Amino acid sequence: MPVSAVASRLRPFGTTIFAEMSALAAELGAINLGQGFPDSDGPREVLDIAINSINGGLNQYPPGNGMQVLREAIAQHQERFYGVSYNANTEVIVTAGATEAIAGALLGLLEPGDEVILFEPMYDSYQACIALAGAVSVPILLEPPTYRPNISALESAITPRTKILLINSPHNPTGMLLTREEQKLIARIAEKHNLIILSDEVYEHLVFDGYRHASIAEIPEARNRTVVISSGGKTFNTTGWKVGWAVGPEHLIAGVRSAKQFLTYVNAAPFQPAIAHGLSMPDSYFLELAKNLENRRNQLCAVLEETGFHYFPSSATYFVTADIRNMHPDGDGREFCLRLAREAGVVAIPNVVFYTPQHAHHGKHLVRFAFCKQETVISEAAQRLRSWVQ
Ligand code: PMP
Ligand code: GLN
Repeated sequence: MPVSAVASRLRPFGTTIFAEMSALAAELGAINLGQGFPDSDGPREVLDIAINSINGGLNQYPPGNGMQVLREAIAQHQERFYGVSYNANTEVIVTAGATEAIAGALLGLLEPGDEVILFEPMYDSYQACIALAGAVSVPILLEPPTYRPNISALESAITPRTKILLINSPHNPTGMLLTREEQKLIARIAEKHNLIILSDEVYEHLVFDGYRHASIAEIPEARNRTVVISSGGKTFNTTGWKVGWAVGPEHLIAGVRSAKQFLTYVNAAPFQPAIAHGLSMPDSYFLELAKNLENRRNQLCAVLEETGFHYFPSSATYFVTADIRNMHPDGDGREFCLRLAREAGVVAIPNVVFYTPQHAHHGKHLVRFAFCKQETVISEAAQRLRSWVQ
C-alpha cells in the first residue's frame, strides 16, 4: 500500500461528497438532486453585466478587499434587509464564495488548539477548515424532526479554549431557521464568554412559509463580535461565479483579510459589478426567488410523500432530509444513495457526511434531496422514483 501523501490533518476528510455524487450523476445520466446548485440561470441583467464587464476589459486583479461598487452594495444590502450598518471600506471583504470567507475567518482568527462550537449536522467545509487551522471542532447535535438547537448544551460545551461559535441559519442540510429568541440566547452567551460568532447566512433569501431570515448581527450584543458570511451564488443562481463576502467589525474582518490575501489574493473581477447590481434589485426579485423555490420544495416533498419517504419539514434552503429506514433495511444512507443512483437514476446526498465521526450513527440513515431544479426535472425524478418503488 503506498503511504498517503495527503497531510494528516486533511486525511480524515477524503473527497468532498459533492464532487463524488455529481460525478456519479454525470456517469450514470442520473438526475442530480445531490449537490445544491440551480439548473436555470439567474436574472438576465446580472448575467449581462458580467459579460459586458469581460468585453469591457475588466479582466485583471481587482482591489484586495473587493471592488468598491460591490462592497458598497453589500453594505447597503445589510442595511436594507437587516437594518445593520457596515462601513464599506473597513467592515466588508469580498471572497471567493462563502467557502473562502469561512476558511479565511477560521484560518485568520483561530490559534492552534482553540475550540469552535458548532451545530451538527453541518456543511462539510467547516470541520475541514477548523482542522486546517489546527483547531478543534466541538459539535452540538441537532436532532430531527425539528432540528431545534439545544442552547444550554451549547453553553455547557464552552471551555477556556472556546473562541468561536459557528452558526448556520438557514441551515444546510436541514432547512432549519434559528428563531429570534435562539439568536438572542446565542448572542448573550457569546457576550458573557467573550466569543466570536461566525454566522453563515448563505441561504438568507431562500426562506419559505412566510418566515423571514433575520441576521444575528441585528442583535446589539452580537453586532461587534459577529462575522456574517454570505454569497451571491444562491441568491442569483450563480454558484459557479464564487462571489462571496464577510461583513463584521474591522478587527475581525482584518483576520479574514490576512488569510484571504494568501489564499486567493483576489477573485472574480468581472462578476463583482454584476453581483453588486443583483444586490440592489427590487424586493420583488427576492420574493419571487423564494416563492419559486418554495413551489419546488412543495413539489419534491409531495413526491417524497407519495413514494413513501419519511421526510422532515424544511422551511428554507435548497434541501429536504429524509429518513430511509423504511425503504432500505439496514438504514445505510451511503449505500442507499449509490443504489438509488444506479437503480432509480436519481442522486441524493447521504447526510452522514454532515456529521463528525463520533456522531456518524445519528446521520447514517438520513439522505438529503435538493429541490433547486426545474419543475420538469423534478417531475422526471418523480417518475423515476415512482417506477423504482414499485
Ligand atoms: N455555506 C453553506 C451552508 C453552503 O451550503 C454553501 C454551499 N455552497 C456554502 C457555504 C458555500 O458557498 P459558496 O458556493 O458561495 O462558496
Ligand atoms: N452547498 C452546496 C451543497 O451543500 C454545494 C457546495 C459544494 O459543492 N461544495 O450541496
